[in-house]
Amino acid sequence: MTPAIAPPLLAIALEDVEKRYPNGTLANSGVSFTVAAGEIHALVGENGAGKSTVMKMLYGLERPTAGILRIHGRPVDFRHPGDAIAAGIGLVAQHLNLVPSLTVAENVVLGHEPRRIGGRLDRAAAAARVRELVEQSGLAVDPAATVAGLPVGVRQRVEILKVLHRGARILLLDEPTAVLTPPETATLFATLRQLANAGRTILLITHKLDEVKALAGGVTVLCRGRVTGSARMADLDQGTLARLMVGRDLPPPPPRRPAGARPIPRVVARDLGYVDGEGTIRLRDVSFDVAPGEILGIAGVEGNGQDVLARLLSGADVPSAGEAKLDGQVFTGLSARAARARGVAVVTEDRLHDGAAPSLSIVDNLMATRYARPPLSRRGLIDRATARRWAEEVIGGFSVRATGPDQPIGALSGGNMQKLILAREIADAPTFLVASQPTRGVDIAAASALHTRLAALRDQGAAILLISADLDELLALSDHIAVLYRGRIVARFAAGAVDARTLGLHMTGLGPPVEGGGHDAVA
Ligand code: ADP
Repeated sequence: MTPAIAPPLLAIALEDVEKRYPNGTLANSGVSFTVAAGEIHALVGENGAGKSTVMKMLYGLERPTAGILRIHGRPVDFRHPGDAIAAGIGLVAQHLNLVPSLTVAENVVLGHEPRRIGGRLDRAAAAARVRELVEQSGLAVDPAATVAGLPVGVRQRVEILKVLHRGARILLLDEPTAVLTPPETATLFATLRQLANAGRTILLITHKLDEVKALAGGVTVLCRGRVTGSARMADLDQGTLARLMVGRDLPPPPPRRPAGARPIPRVVARDLGYVDGEGTIRLRDVSFDVAPGEILGIAGVEGNGQDVLARLLSGADVPSAGEAKLDGQVFTGLSARAARARGVAVVTEDRLHDGAAPSLSIVDNLMATRYARPPLSRRGLIDRATARRWAEEVIGGFSVRATGPDQPIGALSGGNMQKLILAREIADAPTFLVASQPTRGVDIAAASALHTRLAALRDQGAAILLISADLDELLALSDHIAVLYRGRIVARFAAGAVDARTLGLHMTGLGPPVEGGGHDAVA
C-alpha cells in the first residue's frame, strides 16, 4: 500500500472570494489563492488592486459578499476583528497605534492583561510574559522601556509582540517596511523568517520587488480585484515576477540634473527652528539652499523633524527662529495661501487629512487650490467644463484608478489619491515644491510616473525639497541629500557620494561626524 502523501497544511485559503462595497465598487472578484502554514506570502499589485480589502476580510473588518475564507482548513465567517483574533490571526498595524506614555510590556499586554485577583494589572507577570515573548521571537526590545522614546522600527517590533501575545499563528502586515531604515528592514526580515521557521504564517502587502525576492516563498498578484498570478517564488524567474507586478515595462529613472556651475539658489533657509506648544525643540538650526533645477533630498527616520520642516515651509506653522526666502523674499511666517501665491507648493505626508477633502469629487479636489485663478476660474466663476477636462487628463495621464472625475476622492486608494494631489500641486508650476513622502504606499508604476513628473518640474527650473523615508527614491532623484536627526541636519552629501547604508547610519544617529553636519550639542 502506498502511503498517502499528506497535503501541505493550508493556513489561509480564499475560494472564489468576492467583495462588493456598499457603494457598488467591486474590490475583489473570483479571488482564490492559498498560503501554506509556515510560509511568507507576498500580496502585490498596483494601488486599488484590492490587496487591503483581502487583508480586511481576513481580519474581520469587512465581510466577503461571496466565496469562502478558510483558516487552517476551516471555513470562517468573521463578523469583527475579535473573531479573527480568536482564530489566531493578528494584524500588525501600519500606523502604529501604541500608547506612547506606557512601557513596552504594558503596551504588549494592553487589552489582554494578566490581572491579579481583584482586577489590578499584574505588572510583574506582564513583564515576565513579554520577556518570554522576546526570547521566543528573537525580537530585541526592552520590556521596561517607555514607548515614547523608541524609534519606529522598535515600535513595530512592539506591535508584533502584541499580536504574538494574543496568540496569533497568522500575521498580516501591510507595507511593513514603508517607515523603516535599511538596518531596521533587515532586522524585520530576520524576525519574519524566524517566525515563519517556527511555524507561523505571514501574509504581507508590499510594493517592493526586492522585498518579495528577499523574503517571500509565494506571491499572489492582484490586478483590478482579480488574481492575475499566484506562484511559488521557486517557480518564477525575476523577469516574470517584475512583469506580473508592474504589468508593463517601466521607463528608466529620470536622469539627474547634469553637474555644472551652480546657479544662485532659489530657496535659502537659514537657522530654522521650531519649539512646540509643550516647549519641546522640534527643529533647530536648519539651514539649506536649493538652486533652480535642483532636488534637495531630506532623509530621516519619521519623527525627526521632517513633518515640522514641511509645515514651516508650507505656511502651516510659523518658525520660532530663522526664516526661508524664495527668490530673495521671505515666505516663512506667511499664511499658507500667501506662501502659495509666492510660488510654494506642498505635497503633504498626511494626504488624506491635509491635502484632500475626502467627500468631494476629484474635480473639486483638483480645483481646491485654484478657484481664484484663470484659466479654470474667471472673475470668480468656475469653468466646470474646462475643470472636468483637466480632471480627465489627470486621471488618464497619471493612470488614476477612478470611475470618473465625479468620484469622491475619499473612495480612492491612498496611492491614487496621492497621484491626484501631486498632479494638482505640479499643475500650478510652482517655483518651490515641498514633496513629503510623495510615493509612500504608491505602486511601482505609479511611483515611476510620479518621479518622471518631479524630474520634469525640476527641469523647468523649480527648486524641490524631497522629504522621503525611501532611500532608493532619495538616491535616485536628489542632487544633494541632508539627513535630519532629532530636529537637526546632522549630515549632508552630494548625490553619488553616499549610499543607503551610510544614510541609514546617520538617520539613526550612528554616523561619523560630518563636516558642516552639526553633530555638536544635539539636544
Ligand atoms: P489596494 O490595497 O490594492 O490599494 P484596496 O483594497 O484598498 O486596494 O481597494 C480596492 C478598491 O476598492 C479600490 O477601487 C478602492 O477605491 C475600493 N474601496 C476600498 N475601500 C472601500 C470602501 N470602504 N468603500 C468603497 N470602496 C472601497
